[in-house]
Amino acid sequence: MRVELVTVGDELLIGDTINGNAAWLGQALTRIGVTVARSVVVGDTLGEITSAITTALAAADAVILTGGLGPTYDDRTRDALAELAGVPLVRDAGIEKALRDRADRFGVPLRPMALRMADLPEGAVVLPNPAGSAPGMRMAHTGGVIYALPGVPYEMQAIMTETVLAELDTGSAPAVTTLRTAGLWESVIATRLAPVEATDGIAIAYLPDPGEVRIRITAVDTAALDKAVTHIRRLLGHTVYGTGSESLVGVVQALLEQRGQTVAVAESLTGGLLGAELSTLPGSSSTYLGGVTAYATPLKARLLGVSE
Ligand code: ATP
Ligand code: MG
Repeated sequence: MRVELVTVGDELLIGDTINGNAAWLGQALTRIGVTVARSVVVGDTLGEITSAITTALAAADAVILTGGLGPTYDDRTRDALAELAGVPLVRDAGIEKALRDRADRFGVPLRPMALRMADLPEGAVVLPNPAGSAPGMRMAHTGGVIYALPGVPYEMQAIMTETVLAELDTGSAPAVTTLRTAGLWESVIATRLAPVEATDGIAIAYLPDPGEVRIRITAVDTAALDKAVTHIRRLLGHTVYGTGSESLVGVVQALLEQRGQTVAVAESLTGGLLGAELSTLPGSSSTYLGGVTAYATPLKARLLGVSE
């Protein structure tokens, strides 16, 4: 199953809003074994939205759109879908009633503009929004399927979780894990892991961050994954310090606790950063004693006994 993402909004193009929707969707879909083949961002323009959907559907089984489903006239997604399918917008009685009930509950008058949220391209299916008023919709088009969801992140996530993920789940989620490494450059790690990368059905991604490289390993099943991880650990040795969301300082603290050891630091150039890091986690006082930051040469000699 191949999916393409189209995230809609001028605010995404000008950098006002970080495209968190694309990131969330990428993670959620990958987790259920769906390939996110491409992701594009377009502005709130009818022509841009229709052409992005057409291009995406030509290559993918499904397109997921977010944004532009609200009540205001800059929200153009429903118009784009209607134009694409060559059908009129039709007011959905169920959504209209829900909008009226919601306005009553809040004791506010329902503005005519808000009723735009009850307009669906003819033939589209409503995807209930448990977190807000603009529902999502599903529409079949040119042999594929289009999902249109609100831009508001928690509403989009609610509809995905409630409906869309179950519809797209292929039951063939790959086995994935992340190893965390410190002390070797990405290129050095990649050179060492060449034999693992050459293994059929194993994909490796290198994700460098300051001071460390995460290695994400994807395999067809857990048996293949375990085998690859054992191989990688053998090739990299102590460079691998942890897995998943473990942190270097967390692993260091756990090792010190296990051994009943403590640590103190003498710092110069790092200006206290090492001590700050070692004291970030709860319980660090049982393993971290403290530090001296001596920056000027005379202080290093006087406080720390470093030879002149
Ligand atoms: P609304 O009913 O609020 O108008 P909508 O479907 O029209 O919903 P937008 O108007 O595009 O959605 O965006 C609503 C809010 O969600 C804005 O605050 C916007 O910044 C945020 N948002 C939209 N798209 C994204 C995205 N791709 N990633 C993160 N946030 C987003
Ligand atoms: Mg909007």
